[in-house]
Amino acid sequence: MKSLQSLGEFGLIELFRKRPIKKHPAVLLGIGDDAAVLKGDKEGDLLFTTDLLIEGKHFHLGEATPFEIGRKAIAVNLSDIAAMGGRPLCAVAAVGLPAALKLPFVLELYRGIERTAQKFGACLVGGDTNQSDRLVISVAMLGRTFGRGKAVRRSGAKKGDVLFVTGELGGSYRSKKHLCFIPRLKEAEYLVKHFRVSAMMDLSDGLGSDLWRLTGESRVGAFISKEAVPVSRHARSFSGALRDGEDFELLFSLPPQEAARLAAAKIPKEMAVFRPIGKIVDKRFGVKLVRVEGRWEILPETGFDHFKRK
Ligand code: ADP
Ligand code: MG
Repeated sequence: MKSLQSLGEFGLIELFRKRPIKKHPAVLLGIGDDAAVLKGDKEGDLLFTTDLLIEGKHFHLGEATPFEIGRKAIAVNLSDIAAMGGRPLCAVAAVGLPAALKLPFVLELYRGIERTAQKFGACLVGGDTNQSDRLVISVAMLGRTFGRGKAVRRSGAKKGDVLFVTGELGGSYRSKKHLCFIPRLKEAEYLVKHFRVSAMMDLSDGLGSDLWRLTGESRVGAFISKEAVPVSRHARSFSGALRDGEDFELLFSLPPQEAARLAAAKIPKEMAVFRPIGKIVDKRFGVKLVRVEGRWEILPETGFDHFKRK
C-alpha cells in the first residue's frame, strides 16, 4: 500500500474523491473545487468550504499577532468563496488552544476572526473549542453565488481561452502577505457580473501547482508566457514565485472576446490588476512556459504539497 508521502496531498484527495459515496440530491458539485456547490434558492446556489490552519505550518506564534492569525483563518476561506465567484454568508470557527495561552491572546484571535468576517460581509455563527498541544483553527464557511448556476468551476477552461491572474505572485511568507492578503471578493464579483468567466480558482499552493489543478480539471493544456507572469519583488526568483504558495490571488480564464473586453475595460480603481499570463491550449501540448524568443520548457509541477515538503 502506498504511503501518504508518495501519494502526496493531491493523490490523497483524488482517493477521497473516487470513493463511492451516494450523492445527495442537494449537491451540485462535491470534492475537487475551491468549494462545494449546493442547491440554494432563486438568489443563488450555496458554496461550502473549509480550511485548517496549524501553528508552525501556516503561521508562527512569534511572527504573527493573534489578530493576524484569526484574520488569516477567515481570509483563506473568503478566498475560496471568491474563487467560486461568490460572496460570503457565514462561518463557524473551531479552535484547539494550548492551555498555556493567555486570555488576551485568545480574545485578540477572536477579534481577528470576527472583524475580518464582518469586513467582508460574513458573520461568525458558531464553532467549537478544545484544548490542544498546538494552536489549530479550522473555519468552515458558507457563501452564495450571484444567481443560480453561476458558480465558476475549475473545470470550464476551453482551448483558446486567455489565462489571467490578479496581483503579484511569490514571496508571500517573506512579505507577510500570507497574513494580511485581501481576499479577491470584489474582483471576483466584478468578473462574474461583467464577463463570462470560464474557469477560476485561487492560488494557494503556487501557480506552478495550481495551474496543473485547473488544466487537469478542465482537461486542457496551457502556455504561460514567462515574461507575463507578475513576480512580486518579495519573491526570491521566478521559480520561487511559481512555488512559494499562499498568494491568494485569482487564476481565471476568459474566452478570447471576453479577454479583449477585459483588456479594454475601465477597471474600478480599488481593484487588483488583472494580468493576462498565457492561454489555454489542447491537452496534448501539456503545460508549458514560453519565452518571448520562442523557446519553451515544460512547467514543472512545483507547488506546495503538505505531505511532500516540510
Ligand atoms: P483549496 O486549496 O482550494 O482549499 P484543497 O487543495 O485544500 O483546496 O482541496 C481541494 C479539494 O479537495 C476541495 O474540493 C476540498 O474540499 C477537497 N478536500 C480536501 N481535503 C479533503 C478531505 N479530507 N476530505 C474531503 N475532501 C477534501
Ligand atoms: Mg482554493
